Formats: sequence, structure tokens, C-alpha cells
Amino acid sequence: MTDLKQFIRDVADFPQPGIVFRDIAPLLRSHFEPTIDAMSGLLTAGEWGRIDAVAGIESRGFMLGAALALKHGKGFVPIRKKGKLPPPVVSIPYQLEYGEGVLEMQQGSGRLLLIDDVLATGGTLAAAADLCLAAGYQVDALGVLIDLNLIKDFRWESQPARTVIRY
Ligand code: IMP
Repeated sequence: MTDLKQFIRDVADFPQPGIVFRDIAPLLRSHFEPTIDAMSGLLTAGEWGRIDAVAGIESRGFMLGAALALKHGKGFVPIRKKGKLPPPVVSIPYQLEYGEGVLEMQQGSGRLLLIDDVLATGGTLAAAADLCLAAGYQVDALGVLIDLNLIKDFRWESQPARTVIRY
């Protein structure tokens, strides 16, 4: 199997001095299908059969989550930054590296796979999972393309973040 990590570009001092940003744009440009295939393998066939939809976190979670949903014949649910979705929405504040952000989604029901591109502190993924519950969904599994391994054992409600690429 192709080593997908080699197509991720490390960008020093972006978006802040001292931060190494892992840029997945080259990977998506050259190896989108194998990336989605690898993420598909995060769930067993039985688990895929049980979920109703994939929820993706804006904006790289949209690219990955929508492709996964399409591949598996599932619906897609967007989780967006504040002010982008029309009301009524459910909101949740979460901690950013500097300051606070707000994620929003529309109410619904069913079993979700929650997808984002990168797990760093885990704050975004945990807040998005809490938001899914608050909006009426059940979260069957959490998946990310990349785990930066900043926190050793991320858990949300005892569930790990399943990952393809680990640093
Ligand atoms: P966390 O909330 O600290 O886990 O940060 C994860 C969020 O920040 C994800 O939604 C990512 O899109 C973004 N992020 C953090 N670090 C990186 C990176 O190195 N590359 C791309 N996105 C990142």
C-alpha cells in the first residue's frame, strides 16, 4: 500500500510562528482515491452498514467526509463555523489555540460517523461530537486522516479517534 504520509507537506511557521502545519493539499491532489479508500478501512463493513450518515467538520472534513459518504451510499451532514448555516441551528463553543470558536449544525437523528482531517489537541473533534449529541444524533465512530499525536490517548465518551496517518 502507498505510504500516504510522504505526500503531506510540512510548512514551518504557519499559521503562527513555531507551528509546523501539515498540508494535505498535495495528498488530495495526487492520491485522493487511495486516501478515501484508506479512511474507508477505519470502519468494518458491519460498522458502515449501521451508520446513517457521515458528518464532516468545515472545511477539510467536508472534502473527506463527503467523499466517504458518497462511496458508501450514506448521507452527509455539515458541521460549520458560526454564522454559516441558516437557523435553526444548535451551537457549541470550543477552545481554539488562541481564543474560542463556535461550531454549529442543524438538528437531526440517526447514527453518524464524524470526520475531520487533523486531530491536534482534540478540542475540535470532541466539541463536534458533543454537538452531534446536542443536535439529536448518535455518534457511532470518530475518524481523522491525521493524528498529530499531541495527546497520547484521545477519547471521546471512551471512543478513540480512528486514524490513517499518525505522527
Ligand atoms: P484541535 O482542535 O487542536 O484538535 O485542532 C484540529 C483542527 O485544527 C482541525 O479541524 C484541523 O483542520 C486544524 N488543524 C490543526 N493542525 C493542523 C495541521 O497541521 N494541518 C491542518 N489542519 C490542522
